[in-house]
Amino acid sequence: MKLCCFDGGRIGLIAGERIIDVSDIAGATPGEWPPVGMVRMIGRIDGLRGALDKAADRTGMALDSVRLECPIEWPNKVIAFPANYHAHIDEMVAANALISAKPANGQGFFLKANSSLSGPADPVYLPAIDGREVHHECEMAIIIGRGGRDIAVDRAMGHVFGYACLIDFVVRGKEERVMRKSFDGFCPLGPYIVTADEIAAHDDIDLQLMVNGELRQLANTRDLIVDIPHMIAMASSVMTLHPGDVIATGTPAGVAPVKGGDRVDISIAGVGAMSLAIVQGDKGSHPVWTHDRFIPA
Ligand code: MN
Repeated sequence: MKLCCFDGGRIGLIAGERIIDVSDIAGATPGEWPPVGMVRMIGRIDGLRGALDKAADRTGMALDSVRLECPIEWPNKVIAFPANYHAHIDEMVAANALISAKPANGQGFFLKANSSLSGPADPVYLPAIDGREVHHECEMAIIIGRGGRDIAVDRAMGHVFGYACLIDFVVRGKEERVMRKSFDGFCPLGPYIVTADEIAAHDDIDLQLMVNGELRQLANTRDLIVDIPHMIAMASSVMTLHPGDVIATGTPAGVAPVKGGDRVDISIAGVGAMSLAIVQGDKGSHPVWTHDRFIPA
C-alpha cells in the first residue's frame, strides 16, 4: 500500500497512476490543525485495512493532477542516526567535520526538529548564512507503526509501518547539530509511505542521490552499521516510540554542498523517488553563525 498526503491535508491511497481520496476513512479533516490525520490513521491502521482495500475500487484521480505533501507532517518525533556507514565516517574524518568519530553503534542518535519536515513538491530554501556549506544526506525513513518501549531486536520489524525517502540537509560546522539540521524544509520526506509488506528485504535496499543529474551518493542498506532492527531497539530503549514516528537511517558517503538553482533527486528501490529544487532563501541570518562565542547585546 502507498499512502500519501495531498492538496491541503487530504489523505490519499495511490493505486498505479491514480490517487484515491481516503480522508474519510482516515478520519482526517483537510486543513485541520494540527495536521495529525496520517499519524492517527497509522495508529488505527489494523481497524482500517478492510475499508482501505475496498477504497481501491473507487475511481480516484490522476496522480499527476494533485500536489503531494509531506506524508507525515506532525509526528511525535524525528529520530536520526549519525555516522552509520563506515565510508561516510572516513570522508568526515578526512574533512575534520565530525562531532565524534565514533560510529552510531557507540554514539547513539539525535533528534531533528519535526518542523523541518517538508514534502516532495516543496523547494528546499537555503539559509542566508555567508561562507557555510549546506550538504545533502541521502537517507531512508522508517515509519513506526505499532509503538512501544524497550522493543527487542527480534521483534523490531513488527513495529515498522513503512518506508519513505528522506534527505537530511545540514549546515556543516561545529555548532549544535540540532540547530544545523533543523531549518524549515531541511527534512524532505516522501513522496509517499510504502508499507512494510511491499519491501522484500529491509537489509537489501538500494538508494541513490543525484545533483543536477550527476550521481553523488549510492548505497545499500546492507552496509548500515546499526541496521533497522537495532535502530528501533536502541531508540526505544530511551524513548517510547509512537505510531508515525520517523527514524532516519543515516547517510552513506558522498555528501557535498548544494547551491541555489540545483536540483536534487533521491530514489530508493521499491520506496519511491523525489526531485527537489534548491532555492537560495533570505531567512536564517544570525550572529550565532559568525561568532565563536555569541554574546547577546
Ligand atoms: Mn544524516
